[in-house]
Amino acid sequence: MKRDTVLDQIEHTREPWDFLVIGGGATGLGVAVDAAGRGYRTLLVEQHDFAKGTSSRSTKLVHGGVRYLKQGNISLVLEALRERGLLCENAPHLVHHLEFIVPIYSWWEGPFYGIGMKIYDRLAGKLGLSPSRVLSREETLKLIPTLEPSGLQRGVSYYDGQFDDSRLAVNLAQTIFDLGGGAINYMPVVTLMKENDLIAGAVIRDLETGLEHQIRARAVINATGVFSDGVRKMDEPDAQTVIAASQGSHLVLPKAFLPGKSAVMVPNTPDGRVLFAVPWHDHVVVGTTDLGVDNITLEPVPMDEEIGFILTNAAKYLSKTPSRSDILSVYAGLRPLVKVGDAKSTAALSRDHTILISNAGLLTIAGGKWTTYRKMAQDAVEQAETMAGLEERPCKTEHLQIHGWTKQAIPEPSLGVYGADAPAIREIARKEPALAEKFHPDLPYIGAEVVWAVREEMARTVEDVLARRTRALLLGARASIEAAPRVAQLMAQELKRDGDWQKQTVQNFKEVAQGYLPPA
Ligand SMILES: Cc1cc2nc3c(=O)[nH]c(=O)nc-3n(C[C@H](O)[C@H](O)[C@H](O)COP(=O)(O)OP(=O)(O)OC[C@H]3O[C@@H](n4cnc5c(N)ncnc54)[C@H](O)[C@@H]3O)c2cc1C
Repeated sequence: MKRDTVLDQIEHTREPWDFLVIGGGATGLGVAVDAAGRGYRTLLVEQHDFAKGTSSRSTKLVHGGVRYLKQGNISLVLEALRERGLLCENAPHLVHHLEFIVPIYSWWEGPFYGIGMKIYDRLAGKLGLSPSRVLSREETLKLIPTLEPSGLQRGVSYYDGQFDDSRLAVNLAQTIFDLGGGAINYMPVVTLMKENDLIAGAVIRDLETGLEHQIRARAVINATGVFSDGVRKMDEPDAQTVIAASQGSHLVLPKAFLPGKSAVMVPNTPDGRVLFAVPWHDHVVVGTTDLGVDNITLEPVPMDEEIGFILTNAAKYLSKTPSRSDILSVYAGLRPLVKVGDAKSTAALSRDHTILISNAGLLTIAGGKWTTYRKMAQDAVEQAETMAGLEERPCKTEHLQIHGWTKQAIPEPSLGVYGADAPAIREIARKEPALAEKFHPDLPYIGAEVVWAVREEMARTVEDVLARRTRALLLGARASIEAAPRVAQLMAQELKRDGDWQKQTVQNFKEVAQGYLPPA
């Protein structure tokens, strides 16, 4: 996946593209994979890096959504469970089955959640993971030794999927290339182009050179998440806003807080929210919150009250009480919820996806979740075919192997997420033994991963490598800041950049990483 190759195509393509997709998060990447899979000439443009927005900031679950079951939204759960099963098959190197334990502290919760999870199993049908079961107190504590034992009666175990969100995004971008399409980062859409009052393409700006290019396309898809209204207003300046952003934050803790293999799911905290504590890359991710926000930004920062809420509630369920000094990293993401009626809080807004088509023919797709990105994309492409008068072609993504697909176990822990690409990274490290070294003693990543990220995954800055190609920034904000100069040096060799570039990219990273440092 080479940025220069895509630039060359952009500069030399005179014929209109079939699909121009704006936004390189889960939604846009899914749409571009679907369109390229149907054989359409497809280009995706992302204003920053792939998954820089919400798509690298999730709870990392591929799930049907147990809480939507509680709300009675069966069709949403059914669709998500089906997509969960397909994603486990299509990206087995990135999606794993994970056991969740619901700790039961009052007598009525046991039968309530036990029956609920049986319904969840049933809805998954043939694509179900392992069946749910009710556990004794002893069995529960054996699986989660750090669970608060006082008052614990039993547990309910069920299975969902877990994944690495930004790695899936990178692999989807690579899949677009594998299917003959193109995707490019640091390339925002700055205006939309119209012919006879109909959308005919967009002007994009290369943030590395400042050059602008006109891209003509038959169908233009706005998949910009919480930024959707901004792009809609490029088409219709008076368009009503439809996006309500809801912030969700997470803390990352050392593994000692949840040493086993299973996750904890608290379906109803004392103030009515869901709390997860999930083992992830040998650490623990705890969250999340749901807070309506007006400030839409690419770098939301967790608020002090959110961190307090997560710590207080985690302390109720864990025997080892986490404190602020235990936190390795904090991160926040904005859910791109679509407003329906006059819902009073973002928690009441639909988690389903919405497609809007403007009079000029701009198709906007927003909402949904990572788990359902494939189905969202299928719906969007099918609507776009009709809108743009394209011939209808069959969807190919239901059983499409995503880039990196392999069922072979990868022995090195940090290389597992690369799947079928792992041997190529191993080979880089074999040829140059210095690259087999970790780039920071407290992080699991080696130099060869940096080289690979630049050569094959379109990493352009230190932040791309530390935040999204590897997950260093989430596993340890402080360690990542310390690692930044070494990463910049390795990248500069590959990209043929000078010392000034290294200083600048390290400085930019440090500014972003401040927002991930545990609060004092
Ligand atoms: C706290 C939290 C936890 C979550 N947990 C889960 C979970 O566990 N499982 C799950 O299934 N889902 C989860 N979700 C939901 C899921 O993460 C989102 O639904 C999904 O990532 C949204 O993807 P998107 O592509 O629509 O938006 P984004 O990922 O934000 O992508 C939009 C992209 O558009 C780009 N863009 C904006 N303007 C322009 C422009 N002018 N030109 C070019 N590009 C532009 C942005 O830079 C951005 O990268 C969670 C969400 C949150 C907030």
